[in-house]
Amino acid sequence: MVSRTTDDYQFMARCGVVAVTEPAFWAGFDRSSSQSFYDYFRQLTEFEPKRAAKYGIQHYCWMCINAKEAENVQLSREVIQVIPEFLDRPSVLGIGEIGLNKNTRNEIIVFEEQVDLAARTGQLILIHTPHLQDKHKGTAIITSIIKNDPRIKPERVLIDHCEEHTIRMAKEAGFWAGLTIYHISKCTPQRGCDILERFGAEGIMVNSAADWGESTPSSMIDTCLEYRRRGHTEREAIEVFYNNPCRFFGQNPKWKLKPIDR
Ligand SMILES: [Zn+2]
Repeated sequence: MVSRTTDDYQFMARCGVVAVTEPAFWAGFDRSSSQSFYDYFRQLTEFEPKRAAKYGIQHYCWMCINAKEAENVQLSREVIQVIPEFLDRPSVLGIGEIGLNKNTRNEIIVFEEQVDLAARTGQLILIHTPHLQDKHKGTAIITSIIKNDPRIKPERVLIDHCEEHTIRMAKEAGFWAGLTIYHISKCTPQRGCDILERFGAEGIMVNSAADWGESTPSSMIDTCLEYRRRGHTEREAIEVFYNNPCRFFGQNPKWKLKPIDR
């Protein structure tokens, strides 16, 4: 949302969106110092919740240094130092989106240090998996690092940007699997529904990647409409698009919405 306009909040409210969770992510350019991240974290935790609340939307967020900027290990360590003071803020759900971009050694070092931070502080974890040709290898590295840390319960981890060839790695280990709808480089609504039908909805969460690129905050809603168009019941749609997110995020008591049982 830091790269979206207020019109998008109004649009989402009209679409029926009641809450957003915003990962700390790459802003489209590399930031020059940890102070930039400090200010970014303040924007995520102080300004965005107020802007969203004007349209009846709850705004939550995640704290981290993203995989792309994690290539700079020294900068990353400075950012990791400032994260703990934000973790107790009322809208912060956990650590994320951490992960890998090009599967480099530096990215892995910073990923492991942020996993350690999450384990030490008992945070939920949101994971970014790499794009295209790096995705399968990156997802394998990420899942094996987390599985080897006995402090972390798999159901407290969401492996995001899953595709047909990586979703099993997430689900079979007991992690949550995220389907990111972003029509240019990730899933379309149709492909997202194909994956839901093929792998079952349990433990899967669908999300809109609306950022500074060509994208729309309605992509989760568009996927829900496509899902209904295919004949799935309202009850099934609520399970996937509302209850599943409530179940994962609700493991942090700061999350206020409860699954709907009807
Ligand atoms: Zn991501």
